[in-house]
Amino acid sequence: MDRSIFESYAGLEGEQLLGPILRDFAGKAAVVSSFGAESAVLLHMVAQVDKATPVIFLDTGKHFWETLSYRAKLIDRLGLTGVRIITPDEGDLAAQDADGTLHKTNADACCHIRKTLPLQKALEGFDVTISGRKRYHGAARATLDFLSIADGRLKVEPLAGFSALDIAGYMKAHDLPAHPLTEIGYFSIGCEPCTQAGGDAADPRAGRWAGSAKTECGIHWTHNGQTIAAPSRSAH
Ligand code: SF4
Repeated sequence: MDRSIFESYAGLEGEQLLGPILRDFAGKAAVVSSFGAESAVLLHMVAQVDKATPVIFLDTGKHFWETLSYRAKLIDRLGLTGVRIITPDEGDLAAQDADGTLHKTNADACCHIRKTLPLQKALEGFDVTISGRKRYHGAARATLDFLSIADGRLKVEPLAGFSALDIAGYMKAHDLPAHPLTEIGYFSIGCEPCTQAGGDAADPRAGRWAGSAKTECGIHWTHNGQTIAAPSRSAH
């Protein structure tokens, strides 16, 4: 895969980008979703094209029960049949996080064994990954491109140009259910130990790893294909 592929999708975003990608790479494209605060938008778009699209959910073992409940609700509502629930390697957990508290002492290592390694394995065999990140989330996401190449795969971000208002408008237009935690002040939702209520359209991820420099879990890439490890919060 090289950057010449970008020409085929130049100027497209949202459903106009997602549709051709899913059709052109049928069986070779996977969506990665956290079933978090804004996930319903991308998942709804996916369902309009092909409900059997592989959707990877990383079940870290640390999610809010509300997220697991919301996942079931969205799968049912959208008719998604390709959701794959991926869990960490038992051996890695036993060796590095036997008591489940690694997130307190080394969050990067915790994300590595609970997210990064399981995702790498889950993506074997796929040529294209699709996620729902937005530039308005700032920090390392502020320069996100719709298309990039990372690890030989095409990385697609159909919602890169969406604002908080665009997301809210799409949710309303399609009567999509909200994640229950958004109704009690959570703007961005990840694992329970590393997520606090808070955030707003100006700093949506303020509640993620609050009080530390960590802003990303390491499963995503920058616009130029570099892995995002843990860019400093001061980069805002
Ligand atoms: S977000 Fe927190 S609990 Fe979840 S994998 Fe990363 S460090 Fe561990």
